[in-house]
Amino acid sequence: MLAKPLTEPRLIPAPEPFWGALEDVLTRIDGIDPRRYDKTRNYLDGAVTWLSPYITHGVINTRTVAERVLDRHPAKSCYRLLYELAWREYFHRIWQENESAIFDDFYHSQAGVGSDELPLAIVNARTGIRVLDDGIHTVQQTGWMHNHMRMWVAGITCNTAHTHWKTPARWLYYHLLDGDLASNTLSWQWIAGTFSHKQYIANQDNINKYSRSKQHDTWLDVDYDTLAVMATPDVLKERVASVELPQSIPGESVPSHVDGKVALRSLWNLNPEWLSSDPDAKQVLFIEKQQVEDWPMAPHRWAFIQHWVDQLQLEVWVGSVAELEQLQSTGTDFVREEYPACSHWPGKVLDRPFHFGVPDGAYRSFSQFWKQVK
Ligand SMILES: Cc1cc2nc3c(=O)[nH]c(=O)nc-3n(C[C@H](O)[C@H](O)[C@H](O)COP(=O)(O)OP(=O)(O)OC[C@H]3O[C@@H](n4cnc5c(N)ncnc54)[C@H](O)[C@@H]3O)c2cc1C
Repeated sequence: MLAKPLTEPRLIPAPEPFWGALEDVLTRIDGIDPRRYDKTRNYLDGAVTWLSPYITHGVINTRTVAERVLDRHPAKSCYRLLYELAWREYFHRIWQENESAIFDDFYHSQAGVGSDELPLAIVNARTGIRVLDDGIHTVQQTGWMHNHMRMWVAGITCNTAHTHWKTPARWLYYHLLDGDLASNTLSWQWIAGTFSHKQYIANQDNINKYSRSKQHDTWLDVDYDTLAVMATPDVLKERVASVELPQSIPGESVPSHVDGKVALRSLWNLNPEWLSSDPDAKQVLFIEKQQVEDWPMAPHRWAFIQHWVDQLQLEVWVGSVAELEQLQSTGTDFVREEYPACSHWPGKVLDRPFHFGVPDGAYRSFSQFWKQVK
């Protein structure tokens, strides 16, 4: 029951892609106002940091963000930002411990699944919920999407359209500038109730409040009791059997011989300062072809990566881990940073910086993790 015909989705204002140098990213961190962040982060126009693409690709890390903010502001005002940074570390600790198990239903099977395929209206940004359509259109065009928008899109896709989370998670990951295998996968699972104890749903009132909009008389304009038992609305019933996610992967083949030491970077380690103490190592970005075919990324994401490849003057190799092993067997000495997606790569492994430690005790939820690390 749509009150008005569908309108063309519009772009939601997103930050300029300030892809400058490391200094520019650090300046952005130093400009964070943690009190404003605390008060406004749930609103689409709130003072969020937009740092996630840099964190995801390892240009900066959560420890640097936390330490620089704590240097400038009293710890009490930083509480909320640190809490959110901890969510990211929590997802990565879960990934380190459970490896590929995070890519399947984690604690429970998803309840009430009607389809594995994405609703066409989601893919085309034509659900009739204007804010949602604008958000989907914006991520497809720019790669940016606010956390609350992600929750709405995932909640409606999984729990209102009754779709299994896997295909939609891969689709969103493709479009995001900050697509992170752990944060994205486990957030979708948290929303779908496979990594949490209940499914997340949002109604029109919730969307209106946090987007400061006033749309009414939509299929989502119902109370929570109605929404919880609602059958898939007509507009979300048509499905797409397979969504095209085209990409063009940059780089050269892995060479057949390399002398000496190679600092082997992954897509998740584009930190300009990494290994600056070892200027003799050849700096290489290795793209594992199979991995990016399994988890493709949109052109704007590859452009972001290329910017840092140019900044860091990296050689880029595309190929298989077997080719790296072949090089290693002929004397190439690899060093790389710990990262769960690369645990099968050869070479000496250096630790990755985290702000919070590993909890001593078991933790089944974020709150149990937070209680121990805060
Ligand atoms: C369905 C869904 C998919 C998501 N996919 C990703 C993803 O692919 N990559 C990704 O980095 N984040 C993901 N998130 C988490 C969160 O939405 C983003 O980290 C956040 O929106 C990034 O914007 P920001 O840098 O302005 O965040 P801010 O609010 O400014 O937070 C600062 C940093 O804290 C971390 N952070 C904040 N909120 C979260 C959160 N809820 N979970 C984990 N870390 C958080 C991020 O590293 C972020 O850059 C997802 C959330 C949902 C609900």
